[in-house]
Amino acid sequence: MTGRIRVGIVGGGLAGITVAIALSKHRHVDVHVYESSPQFTERGAGIGLSPLTLEALNNIIPSAIDLLKTEAGAVEADAARLVIVRTDRCLAPFPRLSSGTEAGALVADLGQGAGLTMNRAPLLQTLLSLLPKEILHARKRLKSLEQVDSGVRVTFEDGTNEHFDAVIGADGIFSTVRDHVLGGKEHAASPAGWWDCRHLVPFEKAREALGEESFKVDRQYAWLGDGAAMLHGLVENKTMVQCIIAAIDKSFSTDRKREVTRNSLNDALPASWYKGPVAKGMVDLILDQEDPKGYAQWEHKFTPTYANNRVCIIGDAAHATSPWQGAGAGISIEDAFIIGHLFSNISTAAEIESAFKAFDALRRPRCQQVVDNGRRTGRLFCGQDETVGVNAEKMGRELGLMFAPLGALDLKLHKEDALSIMQEFLNN
Ligand SMILES: Cc1cc2nc3c(=O)[nH]c(=O)nc-3n(C[C@H](O)[C@H](O)[C@H](O)COP(=O)(O)OP(=O)(O)OC[C@H]3O[C@@H](n4cnc5c(N)ncnc54)[C@H](O)[C@@H]3O)c2cc1C
Repeated sequence: MTGRIRVGIVGGGLAGITVAIALSKHRHVDVHVYESSPQFTERGAGIGLSPLTLEALNNIIPSAIDLLKTEAGAVEADAARLVIVRTDRCLAPFPRLSSGTEAGALVADLGQGAGLTMNRAPLLQTLLSLLPKEILHARKRLKSLEQVDSGVRVTFEDGTNEHFDAVIGADGIFSTVRDHVLGGKEHAASPAGWWDCRHLVPFEKAREALGEESFKVDRQYAWLGDGAAMLHGLVENKTMVQCIIAAIDKSFSTDRKREVTRNSLNDALPASWYKGPVAKGMVDLILDQEDPKGYAQWEHKFTPTYANNRVCIIGDAAHATSPWQGAGAGISIEDAFIIGHLFSNISTAAEIESAFKAFDALRRPRCQQVVDNGRRTGRLFCGQDETVGVNAEKMGRELGLMFAPLGALDLKLHKEDALSIMQEFLNN
């Protein structure tokens, strides 16, 4: 087919592969994905997708939910149960968990209905299986981009070049495409203020260490308290438990990775944690792995635009956020859904710039809100908000406000808004 719009996607993570699927549905778009790693893979453990994210994914891939259940081992899971470790009064319903009168108050059961949790690797492999192999190019690290009259010239580190009508940067938090779109590193990622460490352990082992009550409801549990938060949730068809300890980052180091030892965890966790029910068990579980490591959480505090002529950024390249809202992949999938819809409504390369401008105008406020609310969620989880403190009732109210916007997006309207904004740009 001649006259197809040629789109190069840089980065083969969840954002890059999902937008490739959204675009490859359109016969007038010729899409190619370039990934720097030798293979298209995802590392790390579980990931949760909310009902809204699944609705967006279902719009891109009909029957996505069934596919994830059968091919990626996804299991249904409600949003998290938030429990306080130490507060100034006990609201129960976990009196038996309390090691003192202050522990065990329920802050909130966050709810948007049942989402899915699964491991990252099978999720990516399931998505990859929907794309023709010949459009997937591994070992291709982008070096530079140049916008020329007829489109975008892309140079890879191996010295090869490609020419595209448009380029979509899905190359993650330290994106090279982002630097091109924003004209430098002024808005590069920076520390969000916390670090975390993780371990995936068999269910029986976790239940023994954390107690029966910690698995009473079929949700991820988040334990909130002074200076830190602890989370645990079932993955891999409920056979494994992902354990996370996150704490305020006092190091101010620019090195994201760090050693995790009993001493460093004791240093990060105020004594109040050990009066609660889970801290000792969680610390033991985290340390029960070879060479445990912690990672500083980084984010894009502000991003002035996602689009520059024929180049745009999506996913973590555009809006890397601290993980407190568990929504980075969710908003990346929303990005892919909107890009796919905009491209289904253009037919020539000359219209790309308007499509990317519309994408920026529509998506940036939504995604910036997730970044900002993520940061405030972290402060609330770790008892850092001065007006709220470690008070279950106030935390519940404020966290409700932080999480509400995530699910409150009408995707049908969002899609329509995208088109009408693009039409305005096309008319001008
Ligand atoms: C601890 C943690 C827990 C999280 N949990 C959740 C959750 O439960 N739910 C949720 O929705 N989100 C969650 N997120 C967020 C989610 O993981 C990310 O937002 C999402 O994976 C981002 O995908 P991406 O494709 O944009 O970026 P990435 O996954 O970083 O992919 C970028 C890809 O680009 C490649 N690349 C980089 N540079 C180049 C280059 N120069 N040339 C070519 N390729 C390049 C990389 O190799 C990589 O494959 C979590 C994040 C963290 C850190």
